[in-house]
Amino acid sequence: MLEGATMTGPVLRAVDLAKHYPVGSRWFGRSQTLLRAVDGVSFEVAKGETLSLVGESGCGKSTTGRMLVQLIDPSSGHVEFEGRQYGAGSRRKALRISRRIQFVFQDPYASLNPRMTAGEAIGEPLSLHNMVPRRQRWTRVAELLEMVGLPRSFAARYPHELSGGQRQRVGIARALALEPSFIVCDEAVSALDVSVQAQVLNLLKTLKMRLGLSLLFIAHDLAVVKHISDRIAVMYLGRLVEVAEASEPFANPRHPYTRALLGAIPQPVFGRVRAATVGGDVPSPIDPPSGCRFHTRCPMKTDICARIDPAMETIAPGHVVGCHRWRDVEPMPEAGRAADDVHSARIQRLLGFFQDKAGSAAGQQELRS
Ligand code: ADP
Ligand code: MG
Repeated sequence: MLEGATMTGPVLRAVDLAKHYPVGSRWFGRSQTLLRAVDGVSFEVAKGETLSLVGESGCGKSTTGRMLVQLIDPSSGHVEFEGRQYGAGSRRKALRISRRIQFVFQDPYASLNPRMTAGEAIGEPLSLHNMVPRRQRWTRVAELLEMVGLPRSFAARYPHELSGGQRQRVGIARALALEPSFIVCDEAVSALDVSVQAQVLNLLKTLKMRLGLSLLFIAHDLAVVKHISDRIAVMYLGRLVEVAEASEPFANPRHPYTRALLGAIPQPVFGRVRAATVGGDVPSPIDPPSGCRFHTRCPMKTDICARIDPAMETIAPGHVVGCHRWRDVEPMPEAGRAADDVHSARIQRLLGFFQDKAGSAAGQQELRS
């Protein structure tokens, strides 16, 4: 095979992934009602790439991420990862696959065992997978702690003795223990303060470059993903609606939902951050709207939208949209962009600040606090 072919080929492909949960009881031969958490999602991630998956709460982001790492089995579709394939009906070969693809949870306080020290939490996967000989385990744990910017002495601390940012670093070290090539970060910074968010994003960026990782970065907040993504995939009610290079959705959103999400980027108002919302509620995934799933909330809908499900269409190189009206979606007004820029500029500034700090010993100390 040509060198170039392996370099550019996707390291991971999700092919028509779906997860339907049976809900309610089955009676008198009535067919079971299904909740369509994820309903036919396909995407690729290249080696060393960060793809962000964004959308409102409940649209199926976590379910998608969990199927990739085999925490959940798909109802249909499959995943291709490093030449292996797993999906609906395939027997789990979890140990082999799951070592190379790891998951970082939103709330490390919930995912870390409160009775385990940070060192034990990071060492556990090492012993489960027999990664290093017993005698060398603590050396490796210390190495992993340092890799995520924590002092070795933190190995003895329990989760309640750590700050939110430090716990998330332990969660990342635990994921890195198995030397994965791919990490799924599910809202990994959503629970953190903006300044701590920037530190953890910066850490992920650095680790990605150092270790050549690929990332699927899940978030509900577009401002957070702007600075770490290579591409962004927007999800609505179990489906992808727009996929583009990271800068595109901000300057040139083509799906009315992406446009609406940009309006939902927290806007700083009198020093506080206020989140503007997309109008209306997300419909139930039990009985999703006919045609385009977004039509019930879409300001641009016409007759066809309620009747015909729009296919995903490539409208420019690397830019895919599923909307009948994408040609009529206006670019972001300057005012909207300015509001977005204030918030993301703050994250950007903090990222730069922490990059500078990372160089100095005093800075390192401050980052750990
Ligand atoms: P997101 O991460 O985007 O907030 P999720 O993937 O967590 O969304 O959930 C998508 C939909 O699937 C939601 O409506 C949620 O309530 C539903 N769901 C998630 N897990 C289950 C489950 N185990 N059983 C039934 N419904 C579920
Ligand atoms: Mg989620």
